[in-house]
Amino acid sequence: LPHITVVGAGLAGSEAALAAARLGVSVTLYEMRPVKMTPAHRSGGFAELVCSNSLGGEGILQSKGLLQAEMRSVGSAVLSSADASKLPAGNALAVERDAFSARVTAAVRDHPNITVVGEELTRLPEGVTVIATGPLTSEALAAEIVGLTGGEQLAFYDAAAPVIAFESIDMEVAFRAGRYDQSADYINCPMNKEQYEAFYTALEQARSHTPHDWEKLEFFEGCMPIEEIARRGPDTPRYGPMKPRGLTDPRTGRWPYAAAQLRQEDQEGRMWSLVGFQTGLKWGDQKAVVQLIPGLENAEILRYGVMHRNTYLNAPRVLNAALQLKADPQKLVAGVLAGTEGYLESAATGWLAGTNAARLALGLEVIVPPQESMLGGLTRYLESANPEGFQPMNVNWALVPELPAPAPGPSGKVRKLGKREKRPVMYRRGLEAFMSWAEAAGIAVTRAAPLPDPEPVTT
Ligand code: FAD
Repeated sequence: LPHITVVGAGLAGSEAALAAARLGVSVTLYEMRPVKMTPAHRSGGFAELVCSNSLGGEGILQSKGLLQAEMRSVGSAVLSSADASKLPAGNALAVERDAFSARVTAAVRDHPNITVVGEELTRLPEGVTVIATGPLTSEALAAEIVGLTGGEQLAFYDAAAPVIAFESIDMEVAFRAGRYDQSADYINCPMNKEQYEAFYTALEQARSHTPHDWEKLEFFEGCMPIEEIARRGPDTPRYGPMKPRGLTDPRTGRWPYAAAQLRQEDQEGRMWSLVGFQTGLKWGDQKAVVQLIPGLENAEILRYGVMHRNTYLNAPRVLNAALQLKADPQKLVAGVLAGTEGYLESAATGWLAGTNAARLALGLEVIVPPQESMLGGLTRYLESANPEGFQPMNVNWALVPELPAPAPGPSGKVRKLGKREKRPVMYRRGLEAFMSWAEAAGIAVTRAAPLPDPEPVTT
């Protein structure tokens, strides 16, 4: 049989190995646990969930719900194991973690095309290889990866700022401008003294995640969390990331007292990150603090800021949307290492990398899911995101194209569609596109229940 190697039997690697094996390829899968443990894992089981036991919100209103449905349709082992280990958790896909891991482990070990090697891989092998060694990739292999991509393309800490949906920013308050005469590439949220002081007080009082021992970060300037900057004094943020110099507010003709700036993250301009606002604040507090910024009162946070140990590539510099390394297309990357965030995203990119690795071994072209699908939206983002300060991304609705605006009503006005109207339509569109694409690529697709009817969209 044609052969591939997969490194790492976490969420991404387990799914990659099974996806490739199902396509009739022989797979050698390396997993170093339990011989060599990571600082976060506790077992030798595959697809161990290191923290929460949730694979995200379910259903037709959720971006994760769409990704789950796409994965179910192509027989994902992670999804079938999750469904079989499900616990009651409202609208979330939560699982009994040991049962889940045991099911994935059995599926991998029992597959006749997969040979598991229980050791750390320190040198990348010849031939088609999926690298899925996750946020705690062993040092020796990280050094190998640096050899392929260049050192500055591999990050070891996640110091991420919140990413905000453009449609939720109040542009009646915020304004586009660059500092002094620079081009108007930034969105600026101006603050007067009272607004700044209220914001500062909330920031000072907000609670941070207590870092695990192994997560202790040596903060260096440029990646210091905003709450740490604030701890140095009330004016420190105002002389740091919130400095107003050169930002003339068109509504007043003056520089504000302080300003928060947002930088574009995706090509369409639907995702904007707060510049210099990397933060480890708890999500509830983080949202409350962000929403105190003028213009962001109704901010929808697509990705929360986090500060923790992580190993990931600057995907837009080094990967294409098929998840191949540009420097060596025989090497594919999946999971957190590829610049995704989340269990589900890791498994989904694992499926795509495993599928493409098998196709390469079989002499076929690599494939990329359609952009309307959540997996297609995610992998296209990895390829095309802003590489400056690139941070791993989880799935969200801004990754897939907007719906066309409905026709104007009798009054001539176009009514803005609400989320509950738009999302079921986007869900249906994405899942249909994904399943048709997979069938056209010769992948076995299960069309389970009929798709939910979208609510009628009226003008
Ligand atoms: P992993 O699941 O970590 O799999 C990588 C595998 O590669 C591991 O089994 C490791 O032992 C193995 N490996 C590493 N190096 C080598 C080597 N050289 N040779 C052989 N094997 C190797 N996401 C969520 O959705 N919810 C959460 O609550 C959550 N909490 C997290 C908490 C922590 C502490 C961390 C670090 C991450 C968390 N994540 C969470 C993010 C991410 O979803 C998980 O880390 C997820 O497990 C990533 O999947 P992966 O397949 O990329 O990596």
